[in-house]
Amino acid sequence: MDNNILHDQWDRDHLWHPYTSTIDPLPTYKVASASGAVIKLADGTELIDGMSSWWCEIHGYNNPDINAAARRQLDKMSHVMFGGLTHEPAIELGKALLEVVPPNMNHIFYADSGSVSVEVAMKMAIQAAVSRSGDHKKTNFATIRSGYHGDTWNAMSVCDPVTGMHTAFGSALPVRYFLPQPRSRFDGEWNAADIEPMRGLFEEHSSEIAALILEPVVQGAGGMWFYNPEYLRQARKLCDEYGIILIFDEIATGFWRTGKFFAWEHAGVMPDIMCIGKGLTAGYLTMGAVLATADIARAISEGEAGVMMHGPTFMGNPLSCAIAIESLRLLRSQDMAAKVGRLEAIMKEELSAASALPGVTDVRVLGSIGVVEVARSVDVGKFQKVCVAKNVWIRPFGRNVYIMPPYVISEEQLRTLCRTLVEIVADERNY
Ligand code: PMP
Repeated sequence: MDNNILHDQWDRDHLWHPYTSTIDPLPTYKVASASGAVIKLADGTELIDGMSSWWCEIHGYNNPDINAAARRQLDKMSHVMFGGLTHEPAIELGKALLEVVPPNMNHIFYADSGSVSVEVAMKMAIQAAVSRSGDHKKTNFATIRSGYHGDTWNAMSVCDPVTGMHTAFGSALPVRYFLPQPRSRFDGEWNAADIEPMRGLFEEHSSEIAALILEPVVQGAGGMWFYNPEYLRQARKLCDEYGIILIFDEIATGFWRTGKFFAWEHAGVMPDIMCIGKGLTAGYLTMGAVLATADIARAISEGEAGVMMHGPTFMGNPLSCAIAIESLRLLRSQDMAAKVGRLEAIMKEELSAASALPGVTDVRVLGSIGVVEVARSVDVGKFQKVCVAKNVWIRPFGRNVYIMPPYVISEEQLRTLCRTLVEIVADERNY
């Protein structure tokens, strides 16, 4: 690759990017700045952003209100340890979160990232399950295939065993129970056969299973699949029947991405533990949080350790909290159902044109997520080169070409983004 302003040779030689080879890395494009729904490259090329920087940049880049909130907090303190100390941003954020998460949530653990929040949720589940049952064998997990929960050790272990990291890490990963992916579509009929394997598994192994972890309604990075909310209602019933804790990973689905504040609202059933991240800090800083019911918190505190065994350096980082507070304020000051509903309607209208294309196997839209599924795996490098030439930013994975734009995207920008996506997919030589 030539060492020009857009493709930096030093970067290529020394920096690891997500999931890349050092011998044959995919091209990276140098960004100079970003604002609203537009990413500006180092050579002046402007791209309409279809990714929200992996789902998190919900209010757009360089948002003036969030910038101002960050500056205000920076002048007070950017960080202070959370062990033995507390601060207004952590308290204010906690109060604001409890107003928008499922009403049964009562305790909040601030974590460093999405993956870390999944680790913390799994640790909470084990501590609570062992404390409640007095059985040290009740420490395993069940999940559904095609899920994705992060790249740290235990999070990896509950990612899809085929498309996830199991091949690379093999026997180093703890062995989990995998249920089939629910096939009943979000917008289709519920097929009761979807839930049967869960009953069978719990019947046989509930004494070993601490918790069931899943992404409610939308399976994201494991396959961009939207499944029927009835599955969650049935799962909740079975978890209650067999004494299994239910964990919802709402890291990708939270903060209006699926057209509701959180995806559990599609089903109306609440988890015992819930992970949030990504949109929490509107793409400004890394932060996640784990919410738990009072029952879970009590079980942990009454357990052998007597405490929740986790406490990272950057826990409750005040700067992240201040940003999250402002992001929540922005969400709550707008009619987000209408705003996301509008994005959904435009995407449905524009992406439906892809259904008739030869290489396309499915088109689905939910909230501000639009997916065009193609018959074969996309060559990301090739695809993105065409995207950049056509002034859009889309990063497909596997057979999924998808967009999830920042909510500030204009109608014109979104229509251009969708039309360009369809245009690129229309020519199979582009991928
Ligand atoms: N869970 C889900 C559902 C996710 O989509 C992701 C990130 N794609 C994670 C966990 C991990 O979050 P992070 O990348 O912030 O560690």
